[in-house]
Amino acid sequence: MPFSRAFKIAEERSRTKNFVTPNGLAIFKRVPSQLSYDAVIVGSGPNGLAAAVRLAQEKLSVLVLEAEKTIGGGVRSMEITLPGFTHDICSAIHPLGLGSPFFSRLPLEKHGLRWIQPDLPLAHPLPDGTAAVLSRSVDDTAAALGKDANAYRRLFATFSTRWDDLAREILQPVIHWPRHPWLLTSFGINGIRSASGLIKSQFSEEPARALFAGLAAHSFLPLEQKVSAAFGLVLGMLGHGVGWPLPKGGSQRIADALGSLLRSLGGEIKTGVRIANAEELPLARATLFDVTPCQWLRIFGDRLPVSYRRRLQKFRYGPGVFKIDYALSAPVPWRAAACARAGTVHVCGTWEEVAFSESEVSQGRAPERPFVLIAQPSLFDSTRAPTSKHTLWAYCHVPHGSTFDMSERIETQIERFAPGFRDCVLARHCMNTAHMEQHNANLVGGDINGGLGDLRQLVARPVLSRNPYRTCLPGIYLCSSSTPPGGGVHGMCGFHAAQSALRDVFRR
Ligand SMILES: Cc1cc2nc3c(=O)[nH]c(=O)nc-3n(C[C@H](O)[C@H](O)[C@H](O)COP(=O)(O)OP(=O)(O)OC[C@H]3O[C@@H](n4cnc5c(N)ncnc54)[C@H](O)[C@@H]3O)c2cc1C
Repeated sequence: MPFSRAFKIAEERSRTKNFVTPNGLAIFKRVPSQLSYDAVIVGSGPNGLAAAVRLAQEKLSVLVLEAEKTIGGGVRSMEITLPGFTHDICSAIHPLGLGSPFFSRLPLEKHGLRWIQPDLPLAHPLPDGTAAVLSRSVDDTAAALGKDANAYRRLFATFSTRWDDLAREILQPVIHWPRHPWLLTSFGINGIRSASGLIKSQFSEEPARALFAGLAAHSFLPLEQKVSAAFGLVLGMLGHGVGWPLPKGGSQRIADALGSLLRSLGGEIKTGVRIANAEELPLARATLFDVTPCQWLRIFGDRLPVSYRRRLQKFRYGPGVFKIDYALSAPVPWRAAACARAGTVHVCGTWEEVAFSESEVSQGRAPERPFVLIAQPSLFDSTRAPTSKHTLWAYCHVPHGSTFDMSERIETQIERFAPGFRDCVLARHCMNTAHMEQHNANLVGGDINGGLGDLRQLVARPVLSRNPYRTCLPGIYLCSSSTPPGGGVHGMCGFHAAQSALRDVFRR
């Protein structure tokens, strides 16, 4: 919506009683002639954009304010090594993007988004030169897991065909009235367990054990900790149910498609606007914050009731990441051929090595042999690099706020499973946790999920509440991955926060 129209709406509203209590900021100084919107969203990550789109779908005037020069937050792509090489700075692989109940209802293809499915979602090379592989089919995956075939099939067969139903249950606050209680209960029975407990009780051989350990390690939790199994189950189900796709041209295309859709619905986006203080906010009936609790506390400062501030201060952040983007002269020379067909490769070795690496991180130590998550976008998307050249995306977990340089350890791990890898490197770009936070203020201490995803914070995210998106201020909402269902590019935090605002403020 153009400024002039928004201004008219503001003027009309300012005459009505409704407008007297807009975004809870009646308590602050306000300039009556300031422009006003129905809703302002601070931050243009996938959740901020999802919230904006949902509100604009209801024909509300919406403004998104983004601190950085480009939109997208955790879904931005840039040329950071050599000209012609496009790198995803944060997210690269998007099972949750394709499997999101909200995104899948949006016409994002019309706005330029095209998903590419790699031949195999995932490979996990093993020390003996073979690799465990997650294929799209549960049966094909199970068949390659020897004695563990039946156990694997039992674990994944039902859920993988019912991802849509399960997604609606688990991609929302834990405290809710379920539509599919039996499905949710049978998921919860295994999901609540520790990954190591599930691995030891279900699988007897290395390939299945290592494959599941790698999936569960996405949780950033020690594998001995409760609910770490849930992350492994969800990512495995997604691999079978929807695939682990990547967007043609880079993750930025997800943000660009959402931004284009938003504009087509009349929404506005302004970049280069960092909100540091509540007084800088434009007038709006609802304001949604795609930021994490510590940033939100800084923005509102002493204006908040002490009790709510204390509750929010208890929110805990998780470990960070050390990231390397490579420009390569050739594909990675994997010893196990299956790795060259996979969009994602988990590099660490046996399941015990994965478990040890994650337990080191949780105890504040940089692991000697890190669990390295690798994506190989250019093998499946020729737009990412010049002809016959390649990009590689790699990161490992490190303690919160660590600035230890992990590049040598990451490369030694890759060389273990791909001898000659270093000879292919044309250029590399490294980011420690401080660099990550400079790139995006939401990556506090390098935490990529907007807060630890342990059992307590899966239930109380960011505080224990039936509606965790509402804050203590009327008309003010949190919509980032620090709210349920947490990290990942699915937009569901933004969607649910927008639904709350629609009910509370706009009576829809
Ligand atoms: C290295 C890395 C790898 C990842 N890999 C994957 C993956 O493969 N698949 C996946 O699904 N997810 C992945 N993720 C996680 C995913 O990127 C995040 O979970 C997701 O982006 C969170 O979305 P969000 O909208 O909550 O916040 P963000 O995407 O972090 O966006 C927040 C936005 O708010 C802006 N902002 C912050 N403060 C202010 C302010 N004061 N004023 C104005 N604007 C502000 C920021 O600049 C940013 O644009 C990865 C993340 C990282 C860092």
